[in-house]
Amino acid sequence: VTEEAPTRWNGWGDARRTFDFHGRADALWAFLEEALAHPARATPAEELARLSLPELRLGDGELDALRGLVGAEHVRVDAAARAAHALGRSYRDLLRLRAGEPGRAVPDAVLRPGDHDGVQAILGWAHEREVAVVPFGSGSSVVGGVEALAGPHRAAVSVDLRRLSRLLDFDPISRVATFEAGVEGPALEAALESRGHLLGHHPQSFEHSTLGGWIAARGAGQKSNRYGTMAERLVGARLATPVGEWIIEPHPHSAAGPDLTQVIAGSEGALGVITEATVSVHALPERRRFAAFLFRDFPAGAAAVRTLVQAELPLTTVRLSDADETYFYGALRKVLRPGPDRTGPVLRTLGLRRPCALLLVLEGEGAAIDAAYGRTLYLGTRAGGLFVGTGPARSWHAGRFDSPYLRDPMMDQGFGVDTLETATRWSNVEALHARVREAIEGAFTARGERVLVLAHVSHAYPDGASLYFTFVFGRDREDPEGQWRAAKDAASDAIRAGGGTISHHHGVGLDHRRWMDEEVGDVGLRALRGLKAAVDPKGILNPGKLLG
Ligand SMILES: Cc1cc2nc3c(=O)[nH]c(=O)nc-3n(C[C@H](O)[C@H](O)[C@H](O)COP(=O)(O)OP(=O)(O)OC[C@H]3O[C@@H](n4cnc5c(N)ncnc54)[C@H](O)[C@@H]3O)c2cc1C
Repeated sequence: VTEEAPTRWNGWGDARRTFDFHGRADALWAFLEEALAHPARATPAEELARLSLPELRLGDGELDALRGLVGAEHVRVDAAARAAHALGRSYRDLLRLRAGEPGRAVPDAVLRPGDHDGVQAILGWAHEREVAVVPFGSGSSVVGGVEALAGPHRAAVSVDLRRLSRLLDFDPISRVATFEAGVEGPALEAALESRGHLLGHHPQSFEHSTLGGWIAARGAGQKSNRYGTMAERLVGARLATPVGEWIIEPHPHSAAGPDLTQVIAGSEGALGVITEATVSVHALPERRRFAAFLFRDFPAGAAAVRTLVQAELPLTTVRLSDADETYFYGALRKVLRPGPDRTGPVLRTLGLRRPCALLLVLEGEGAAIDAAYGRTLYLGTRAGGLFVGTGPARSWHAGRFDSPYLRDPMMDQGFGVDTLETATRWSNVEALHARVREAIEGAFTARGERVLVLAHVSHAYPDGASLYFTFVFGRDREDPEGQWRAAKDAASDAIRAGGGTISHHHGVGLDHRRWMDEEVGDVGLRALRGLKAAVDPKGILNPGKLLG
């Protein structure tokens, strides 16, 4: 809830925008009822006015001091601001917000500093008084990263960074740009586009997430194949910490000790507040081309993706859905836009009973893209793919920020949907895919419930790939959090036991800590905790997240 953009305090995105059901919402609910053997039922969210928020733990004098630091209009203690900054946007967060029960996670004040000095002043004040500070970008974390916990401290403030949104420096010769870290996706790309460039970091949350949040969560966008993950794009940074300013100079490469940008990428607000970041940018692509293939099964599709990526083609997006995901999105399209089934019979004749769809997008300099396109079609076909035109990839690209708007109406109807992700080497992709699927299915079967588990590869590297799982289910009315927890724990255990990382791009937050500890190991954790103690001796920065 901000003056700039009316975002939903208990759901996704722009409050003026909704999912386009093409007038067929009822048909969609009927489809899910049948697939999940679970009747739809109205489960509306609580009104903001009925939310019971905890008493403020900051006194008038303290609030006045904060007003002196950032300006009276930028210190908010009203219910709308506190509720909107209590939690992130994970399924679990929405369960709690929609039930009107944010629990302990409500900040005592929401502060909106306007520059680095304002952030540094807040940290100095909070360090002295031992008040917890939760850095807040746009709050799109899906791992509990912005849950406004005070930890051992007596109060918590949420520091909303979205007023820090200026382009500070642009060097077209070196192709680097320095932005304030609270800039959101569309404003950042608009500033670069008007100068003939782009960053190309486009997470599905692009429209409502910030540069600082992308770095702090070590995210990966939907075009990471060509434009890289956020960590790869970070060249330098300026941070405010409880012990003072921390500057990481932006050199093209440096051997002056370990690369500290890579310590900041993934720091999740626990090591400082990123106020400025220098990133490498690309020239705007001259040409964009699309292609889609169908494969007989997931292993065949995965082998094709590996071949395409190892051929180092300028693919921005490589998205391979498994058979269930391909089927589900096909069925959804037919429910929302019914019409004669022209493709089904043809595919069956070709022996593609449960095909896996691969969507590809290429971007770059015109002649290079045209040449690479031919090679892409050749390699895709040689790997056993059936080329099915450009339409599927083109329409995915056009609607790629829309699907998050479906989650809130699904929750209104008593359905649930959550996602989780990992990465592993090519040699382990199929085994891990099967193992995590089974774990999620097993968690629901054990409760006598049905679940749809869908998966895709969406970030591919020469040595391996991410696996992204979506699971759709009928919501348990009595204990929805317990239902979710059982599936999440089973999947996380399966990921670790199966040799995957606990997160490819969502981060650690609260939800993945147990598994991160095991992944990073004792010595790694000691090193990170030592760093935390050095820059945040009283542990006021984002208590409970990342390092506990
Ligand atoms: C619908 C949906 C789709 C998503 N799709 C993707 C995706 O495709 N790829 C992907 O990588 N992620 C995705 N995410 C997760 C989320 O959007 C990312 O983690 C994003 O990078 C968070 O940005 P934010 O500005 O909202 O940060 P927040 O959620 O506000 O914060 C995230 C973490 O970073 C810290 N933080 C924020 N700003 C700063 C700062 N300036 N300095 C220090 N710490 C800071 C916070 O304390 C918190 O720990 C998705 C989330 C949703 C809800």
